Amino acid sequence: MLSKEEIFQNLAEVKEKIAAAAKRAGRNPEDVKLVAVSKTYPVEAIEYAMEEGTVIFGENKVQELTGKIDYFEAKNCQNEWHLIGHLQTNKCKYIVGRTALIHSVDSFKLAEAIDKEAAKKDVICDILIELNIGDEDSKFGCRPEDCEALVRDISILKNVRVKGLMCVAPFVENPEENRMFFRQMKNLTVDIANKNIDNVSMCEISMGMTGDYEVAIEEGATIVRVGTGIFGKRNYMI
Ligand SMILES: *Cc1c(COP(=O)(O)O)cnc(C)c1O
Repeated sequence: MLSKEEIFQNLAEVKEKIAAAAKRAGRNPEDVKLVAVSKTYPVEAIEYAMEEGTVIFGENKVQELTGKIDYFEAKNCQNEWHLIGHLQTNKCKYIVGRTALIHSVDSFKLAEAIDKEAAKKDVICDILIELNIGDEDSKFGCRPEDCEALVRDISILKNVRVKGLMCVAPFVENPEENRMFFRQMKNLTVDIANKNIDNVSMCEISMGMTGDYEVAIEEGATIVRVGTGIFGKRNYMI
């Protein structure tokens, strides 16, 4: 695990780069939220980031997420948790009401399961629709051409709110290769927003990771998800 000083330095660097990318695109840096992706890292690393002032953390596995939420709730910490990884319908009950945003909804069936849990707990659950933007077989996500229909179907559910779109862009050496995908994401949010579907907003675009978040911001990302750029190399053996 990185030291506190290293995590502080990485965060300062990432935040500087976020601000610079926003400015290059004529955007307000405050319109870009940083999700610190803490999957596989110990709670101490998260505590260092919190000390630095980071408030939003993203996890991709339900069990790890709820474990960390339990830990920080017991300490009365006010941070915000996002689920950024695939969610199985039978696991919604563990996270609905405990996460500020679920980034990875890619089917009506899953949205319905979230809605049912949210209704039971009398909460509204904010979600993003995950797109498979590079059309990769290995990835979850709805195809871009199916997105509007899915959003329309989900919009009738009373206890979920669509806030925008999310994608995990292809892994590339040169982030410029993903620019067209990020642009396609932005265009899709504009197209869907123009349909004025009840209960649906397209305010958030969650795209860009350590390797490509600056390009994503230039193309309109409002949420970037950065893990290794903050916490260092991941050890999947944990
Ligand atoms: C792991 C993960 C990230 C962060 O990836 P880094 O390359 O470490 O920044 C972002 N989004 C999702 C969905 C992830 O699973």
